[in-house]
Amino acid sequence: MTLSQMQYDEIMRTYEARREKARHDAEEAKRKVRLAIPEYEQIENMITDLAMESAAKALDGDTQAVSSMKAGIRELTAKQEKLLADNGFAPDFLEEKYVCADCKDTGYIDGQKCHCLKQAMIRYTYRQSNIEEILKRENFDTLSLDHYTDAECEKMKGIISSCRKFADDFGQRYENILLLGNVGVGKTFLTNCMAKAVLDKGYSVIYFTSIRLFDTLSREVFGHDEGSSAANLHDIFTCDLLIIDDLGTENVNSFVASRLFDIINERDLRRRSTIISTNLSFEELDGRYSERNFSRIFANYHVLHPDIGDLRVRMRRAAQ
Ligand SMILES: [Zn+2]
Repeated sequence: MTLSQMQYDEIMRTYEARREKARHDAEEAKRKVRLAIPEYEQIENMITDLAMESAAKALDGDTQAVSSMKAGIRELTAKQEKLLADNGFAPDFLEEKYVCADCKDTGYIDGQKCHCLKQAMIRYTYRQSNIEEILKRENFDTLSLDHYTDAECEKMKGIISSCRKFADDFGQRYENILLLGNVGVGKTFLTNCMAKAVLDKGYSVIYFTSIRLFDTLSREVFGHDEGSSAANLHDIFTCDLLIIDDLGTENVNSFVASRLFDIINERDLRRRSTIISTNLSFEELDGRYSERNFSRIFANYHVLHPDIGDLRVRMRRAAQ
């Protein structure tokens, strides 16, 4: 990931703010509990006293002190838990709640970058935070077959289940998807569903419309994008899932065709999954990109083809 120190610091400040908020919210929760259950605080004080007494006893040579303290604390804690439950508080009400429970919003696990930090860096590098808003609206939970005819529903169910399977098996099975179909059949929606599910599993996802991908690549190659070309390309080759949406809408030239081949080839060697969606037919794809490119896509990609009418037109009509 190509971030300057300043950008990295900015991300880490958001992590610090998250931890601060978790601490603050936990303090606030504690205050509420103390107000609602005075006995809760009394028990808390008893635990502190017990710990201090036991420490003193242990120093005096009482070998049983520690084990009897542990038993005492267990008993008192159980009482506290019961009090919480009796007063209608959730068992985890007093716990610090993190955005990422895996790294407790530190960004690191055992000195290694947590998946959430990797994804935050990708978001920052590619300015993709807008995708998150879209993914809140377009995901498997909001996917609906309302606008399809009965016959189309049957076709779509098969395609949706393949998309679900791709997301469910992600990380255990290497798979690529080529989504074919006319404008308005819901390809981008399906792509977003998979992106959201894979992101939620903690994998790194980079999303590009084909126009932006090749624009980014050509800017780097031709040196208009200060430094960093090798590193950006590295992300595109190595992220867990690369999505190229709307392949065929870019201006094709020999540069684009060879870059596409490099990306597909390199990711395949690394067994990193790619989803490509396109409005083009097989024949059109074949004509546009070089022969070797296309046969590769065909050989290693699971082809899904929602062969139905334009939903957007139908939805507009329904709204009128
Ligand atoms: Zn994390």
